[in-house]
Amino acid sequence: MSKEISQAVVKRLPVYYRYLEELLDRGVERISSGDLSSLMNITASQIRQDLNNYGGFGQQGYGYNVLYLHDEIGKILGLDRAHNIIVIGVGNIGRAISNYSKFEDLGFHMTGLFDIKKELIGQSLHGIKIRDISDLPEFSKKSRIDIAALTLPKDAAESIVKMLVAIGVKAIWNFSLTELQVPSDVVVENVHLSDSLMRLSYKRTNN
Ligand code: ATP
Repeated sequence: MSKEISQAVVKRLPVYYRYLEELLDRGVERISSGDLSSLMNITASQIRQDLNNYGGFGQQGYGYNVLYLHDEIGKILGLDRAHNIIVIGVGNIGRAISNYSKFEDLGFHMTGLFDIKKELIGQSLHGIKIRDISDLPEFSKKSRIDIAALTLPKDAAESIVKMLVAIGVKAIWNFSLTELQVPSDVVVENVHLSDSLMRLSYKRTNN
């Protein structure tokens, strides 16, 4: 289904989800498309178009049922099931990711930490042991890995990706500053923080 859906729509789905969570937290049960539109600063017709890709969810004259829309968007995002995440490279970014409890709230469970540095191996972060990267194939036999976060230097990324593909990992959250070559059944989401900072610098410079 998601094949024909534009990346711009997919990019907005987590934003809808976030706002709907906030509304739920505030005890809002129902919202008109106009109110949702002004809250999110997206036109009502854009919201309608986006949601129509998945069958609508609104009712003429009623607006949106917040819990229903939240849960449906959650399902589209795959948040109705748990995801096991491992982190490869327990440097500054790897640590920040493993320390961030919000991911756990969304159903992403940190199940393993891996590094190559001898002094880190055997230490624990939040009760999770840092393992030697060479133990990854063995670990994957005992513990399902849904997502691997790559928070290691780019020159180490290629060989690690080969290992991940070989053990059957199908989703990579890539913080290493390189574009990864993966088979078509493996999905990658790049989070290149310094690119983002450079874009901000561009905007600042050209404003
Ligand atoms: P550091 O803690 O060394 O200052 P950093 O936050 O500056 O790390 P990087 O140099 O990108 O970031 O390294 C991140 C982590 O990736 C380090 O802990 C490093 O030991 C680890 N690492 C490097 N190569 C590999 C590898 N092949 N497999 C697993 N982890 C690796």
